[in-house]
Amino acid sequence: MFFDQVKINVKAGKGGNGVISFRREKFVSHGGPSGGNGGRGGHITFTVNSQLNTLIRFKKKAHFKAGNGSHGGSKNKNGSMGNDLIIQVPAGTVIYHSETGEVMADLVEEGKKVIIARGGKGGRGNTAFKTSVRQTPRYAERGLPGQEFWITLELKIIADVGIIGIPNAGKSTLLASVTAAKPKIADYPFTTLQPNLGVVFIDHRDFVMADIPGLIEGAHTGTGLGHQFLRHIERTRLLIHLLDGTSENPITELEKINKELKLFNPILAEKPQIVVLNKKDLPMTHEHWLAVQEKAKSLGYPADFISAVAQMGVKNLMRRVMEILDTLPKEQLTLTPQIPTFTLDKKGDQSFTLEKIDEIYHVKGQKIKEIVLQTYWDNEDAVEYVHIQLERIGVLPALREEGVKDGHTVFLDDMELEWMW
Ligand code: GDP
Ligand code: MG
Repeated sequence: MFFDQVKINVKAGKGGNGVISFRREKFVSHGGPSGGNGGRGGHITFTVNSQLNTLIRFKKKAHFKAGNGSHGGSKNKNGSMGNDLIIQVPAGTVIYHSETGEVMADLVEEGKKVIIARGGKGGRGNTAFKTSVRQTPRYAERGLPGQEFWITLELKIIADVGIIGIPNAGKSTLLASVTAAKPKIADYPFTTLQPNLGVVFIDHRDFVMADIPGLIEGAHTGTGLGHQFLRHIERTRLLIHLLDGTSENPITELEKINKELKLFNPILAEKPQIVVLNKKDLPMTHEHWLAVQEKAKSLGYPADFISAVAQMGVKNLMRRVMEILDTLPKEQLTLTPQIPTFTLDKKGDQSFTLEKIDEIYHVKGQKIKEIVLQTYWDNEDAVEYVHIQLERIGVLPALREEGVKDGHTVFLDDMELEWMW
C-alpha cells in the first residue's frame, strides 16, 4: 500500500525554566541576582530529501517530539537549547495544519527548511529582572510549552509527464517499458494503487514520468479511488492520454476521462495532452486510429499509435514527448499557494480581549496565556511582576474601567484569580 497522505503529531520542545539565585561569595554579604535563563525548546523542522519517494515511514510513527530546553542554573548559567528535530520528507510534500486546513509549507526544493512547530521560550532567570530600582528580584519565569498540533502531510509527486487513461489502457505497461520502474501489470482495473515514477532516458536527455491510476467516473467527488490520486497530476507539465485500442469506443473514454479532470480541477484539464492509442499489435485496434486522430485534432492535441507490449512506436513517442517538454515551462507550481515560512503566533501579539459575564471577568490573548504559563504563581514577587506586566499592556486599566472591585473573580486565560489589587 502506498501512503500519499498521512497525519502526524508534532510537539516542539518545552522551554527550560529560569531560576532564582543569588551570589554567595566569601566576603560579599549581599550578592546580586545570579539566576540563569532556561534554554529555548527545540523546533520541529522539515526539510526535503530528494532520495525519498514516499511518506511510508510516517505510517509506522505518528508522534514526533523535539528536545526540551534545560533549566537555567545558579551563577548565571543559562540552560542549553533543546535539540531541534529535523524531519525529512520527499520533494513535493505539502504540509497542512490538520485542524485549520491551512497550508503551512510547500516543500519542493532540496535543502529548503521550514520550522513547523516552534519550541517554547525559555523562562528568564532572576538576573534578567534586575533593574536600577529592583536590585534583588526574587522571581523568575517558567519556560513555555512548545507548540503541539496535528499536521497532514500530502505528497504531490513532481513528474514532468503523467500517463492518464482508463484502467487496462496499458499505462503501467508503458511506464515499465521505458523506465526502470516496476509497476504491477495485470488485466483488471485498479491494479495500480500507487502512482509509479520512472525516469525516461532518451537521446542523452531525461524526464520523469508517472503512471497515474484510478481515473474513474465519479473520481472528482471523492467516491472512487481516483480522488486521492488526481492530486499527483497537478504538477505534471504534459499528459499522455493513453487509450485502450481494444475497447469498444476509445473516443467516449477519452471524453469521460477529460470530463473527470475538468470536474476535479479545471486547470488540470488545460494541461497539454498527447493522445496515444495503445495495443497496435492487435489488428482490431487499427479500426479506431482514424477516429482517434480526428478527435485529437479537434481538441488541438497531437496523436500517436503505439504498442507498449510490442515496443512499437514507443521510442518515437518518448522523443516526441521530450520535444514537447522543451517547449513548455519548466515547473508548474501555481496550484498550491506558495508560502516560505509559516508563522503561528510566533511572536509577541500583545492584544487581549476582556469580557464580563455575570460579574466574572475573562481576559484572553496570546500574551495573557504566556504570562499565566511563565509565572511561578506561588511566588509573591513573581505575582507582583504579573501586576506590572498587566498594567503595561493595558489589562489593569481596562479592568478598572469595567468596574472591577476587590473580591471579584478574574480569569486570566484559564487561571482563576480573586481581584485584590
Ligand atoms: P493500466 O491499468 O492502464 O496500468 O494497464 P496495464 O499496463 O496494467 O495493462 C493492462 C493489460 O493490457 C495488461 O494485461 C497488459 O499486458 C495489456 N497491454 C498493455 N499494453 C499492451 C499492448 O500494447 N498490447 C497488448 N496486446 N496488450 C497490452
Ligand atoms: Mg496500472
